[in-house]
Amino acid sequence: MQNDSSSRFIMEGADVRGYMLQLNRTLTESLSASDYPAPIRSLLGEFLAAAALLSQTIKFEGRLLLQVKGASPINLIAAESSHERGLRCVARFEPLDDSGPLDFEHLLAGGTLVVTIEPDQGDRYQSLVPLTAPTLSECLEFYFGQSDQLGTQIMLHCDGQRACGFLLQQLPPQRTPSPKARADQWQHFSILGATLTPDEIFTLPEAVIISRLFAEDPVELFAPQTHHFACTCSRQRMASALLALGEDDLEALLEEQPILTMACEFCGAEHRLDREAIAEQVRGDEPRH
Ligand SMILES: [Zn+2]
Repeated sequence: MQNDSSSRFIMEGADVRGYMLQLNRTLTESLSASDYPAPIRSLLGEFLAAAALLSQTIKFEGRLLLQVKGASPINLIAAESSHERGLRCVARFEPLDDSGPLDFEHLLAGGTLVVTIEPDQGDRYQSLVPLTAPTLSECLEFYFGQSDQLGTQIMLHCDGQRACGFLLQQLPPQRTPSPKARADQWQHFSILGATLTPDEIFTLPEAVIISRLFAEDPVELFAPQTHHFACTCSRQRMASALLALGEDDLEALLEEQPILTMACEFCGAEHRLDREAIAEQVRGDEPRH
């Protein structure tokens, strides 16, 4: 597949669609703000791929955020995609004890996955996904099966440098109204979909992947869409966050430190604001960064 891209496809004559995704530079840029240990890099790559895939499946303008809070040793893991396919991710964690397994279940023990859709206009929408399966992809598959009653197959993979993903999903009944035919159809495509390997996504052109996977079935493949690293932090956002503390607390903070510094955990950028700069940002004197 092309670097940092995803491709959508539809099964002709069936209520099934799919997406495949490959991230490399986007992943390394997203991970560059922190020196993450290898198991956390891999997990962040899977979260980033999942956020990128899920944001493609819905029509919206805004941001889709996947995050797990309240777990240990990873206290927070989050990945975000905008509708313009700008991606970013972050993790906060305790020192890892590598005497035991460092997989999804052990790194995120006790946490809950929250999927948030935050439209530019209107209310945000949150869903809780129980972490009851041993991988992120299985947790998401279970969630879609429960909430939308639509068969969903998800593959996520990250080797620390590159991430990839594959999503195959039933659409609401349209072309195939018979429940029996619909179930048979889904079984057929999902068995084939399960044979796809990360190596094929990394090394083969999109059309070859599809023709190998679904050799007997007509598939309409759409042009690739590019994904990129993009952080939404800015001095203006930092000023808004500081103002949200309330006038008294902000005043006390400025007494202590005349120049306030805030490092963005997603991209590592350091924003510095003093009293005057905060006032300027609020008045909108400076263009947004
Ligand atoms: Zn940032």
